[in-house]
Amino acid sequence: MIEVKNLHKQYPNHVAVHDVSFSVAEGEIFGIIGPNGAGKTTTVECVEGLRVPDGGTVSVLGLDPRRDAKEVRQSLGVQLQESSLPDNLKVWEALDLYCSFYRKPANPDRLLEDWGLTEKRNSPFGKLSGGQKQRLFIALALVGNPRIAILDELTTGLDPQARRDTWDLIEGIRDSGVTVVLVTHFMEEAERLCDRVAVIAKGRVVALDTPAGLIAQVESTQRLRFRGEVDERILKDLPEVSEVHRTGDQVVVSGTGELLQVVSLVLARHRIGVRDLRLERASLDDVFTHLTEGRTS
Ligand code: ADP
Repeated sequence: MIEVKNLHKQYPNHVAVHDVSFSVAEGEIFGIIGPNGAGKTTTVECVEGLRVPDGGTVSVLGLDPRRDAKEVRQSLGVQLQESSLPDNLKVWEALDLYCSFYRKPANPDRLLEDWGLTEKRNSPFGKLSGGQKQRLFIALALVGNPRIAILDELTTGLDPQARRDTWDLIEGIRDSGVTVVLVTHFMEEAERLCDRVAVIAKGRVVALDTPAGLIAQVESTQRLRFRGEVDERILKDLPEVSEVHRTGDQVVVSGTGELLQVVSLVLARHRIGVRDLRLERASLDDVFTHLTEGRTS
């Protein structure tokens, strides 16, 4: 559905996208995650044909988003980051306007019903709640019956309940056969919704995997935390140990495998008594931090 190869995009004083490649398969929810300024929006704007790449290629349904802009726009539903509408534009008027952009628009009443906005059809945009506005933007992205929907930071600014409700709606879009590209900086959102995720940092793809694959990377890293006096070298020599950090009498040992057993054994062999020993599994946020560390712009 989408093929991005070696994408490069430079702004006057800044390279926003260095070398990004990925492809999106039909029917999947593909996540693009990364810290602020990583180049996510620039990347999807190149896919949408809103920006001209300085290098690399982008193909959407086998078409060039710039050269074949008209065709591509008929198949692509886009919800832009920080979308807005005039406050006094009524919900039905917004749908009517968007319908006029497409050759074969969806039935607006059906969209209002699907997205729980029937009762709000005469409300001005400015009077809608945050969640209602987001639902309207999703509905507007789907007005053209797209084959692909690109949703950029859709749930930013929503409260947790509205965010969860939006997740159900995004699954609904996928279930109706639309391929979804979801730009987000919420790891939890990516984990819950995405079939595959590209992690972007400083304009590069630093990981591309299923959420389970990313979690597996996290789970292989463990942290052992304790208090005590210990010579770090006896721990650093162990093949299971990747790092030892000491602050005062607080020691944190990172590593893999049977970390707890091997460290306990070495401490016992050296007759080193420790307190408050506990094993911590790294979280998804940790892997995100690990992958993107030092890479925020
Ligand atoms: P993200 O969506 O991951 O937050 P962006 O693609 O919006 O990242 O931005 C990537 C980098 O490019 C940032 O450093 C941003 O400041 C810069 N940038 C974005 N848009 C422009 C622009 N129109 N002109 C100059 N720099 C820009």
